[in-house]
Amino acid sequence: MSVDLVKTVDAIRKRLQSARLSGKIIGLVPTMGALHRGHFRLIKEARQDCNCVVVSIFVNPHQFGPGEDFEHYPGTLESDLAHCEELSVDVVFAPRVEEMYPREQLTFVEVAKLGDYLCGPHRPGHFKGVARVVLKLFNIVQPDRAYFGEKDAQQLAIVRRMVQDLNIPVDIVSVSTVRESDGLAISSRNQYLGRKERQRVPVLYRVLQIAKEQIQAGETGSQHILRKALRVLEEEPLVEVEYFEVVDPEQMHPVSKVVGSVRVCAAIRIGSARLIDNILCERE
Ligand code: AMP
Repeated sequence: MSVDLVKTVDAIRKRLQSARLSGKIIGLVPTMGALHRGHFRLIKEARQDCNCVVVSIFVNPHQFGPGEDFEHYPGTLESDLAHCEELSVDVVFAPRVEEMYPREQLTFVEVAKLGDYLCGPHRPGHFKGVARVVLKLFNIVQPDRAYFGEKDAQQLAIVRRMVQDLNIPVDIVSVSTVRESDGLAISSRNQYLGRKERQRVPVLYRVLQIAKEQIQAGETGSQHILRKALRVLEEEPLVEVEYFEVVDPEQMHPVSKVVGSVRVCAAIRIGSARLIDNILCERE
């Protein structure tokens, strides 16, 4: 059986009507396409849990700021469809921008506070764009479960909070980060890396691990943890650190002391790429 490609809101609603009426569990995996092994893990989890798996592919202009990579974001619909077919996805929902935004959008969703740190200040408007498109996708597809990667931990925290605050009837499932063998988190944006840059970027995961080791060894002072890791990053000539923080894993604000679990989150710039990663750390 081949995967259905659906491009309009009416068509996806019709396509899912019978699945819903017959009590099937509908799983949604929202993506921006250029599917890779990270996305595949989300899809496989959805396939295990749900009777009907929908993958959305939509590069949402409203979550890109001026000067960001919206114009250049890789679009590979043909191969994305082939991957979805291999992974037994039922429906790919790939609307055009005009289908999602047929008129000026006057309604915003803002999850306060959770976007105040980390990527928030560096990408003004980004999380507002994310929250709105995710809520639209939830309303269009009405999934029972939706799958998000821990790689985008701040996005995940914001979506979870939006769902709780607005009583949206969907279970949010988080999926651990898929990495290359040298630790680099797989991302559609890794394509922007030149050969020399690609050799340097595993440092990002290495410093997160250094932070985790310190926490596991009993270090509780965030400044101390950050200083040691930053020293390693600063030795990398091509890498510019955008942020490096120890944060509360739900509220996503920096903490000065490690109590219970924390997430260490980082963003770096290298060449034309901006890469983010994070690691959950619990004191032993
Ligand atoms: P994107 O297409 O980059 O918007 O990502 C779509 C979903 O895939 C998001 O929930 C991401 O967090 C998730 N994702 C992206 N890269 C990875 C990865 N390396 N491992 C696990 N999930 C990922």
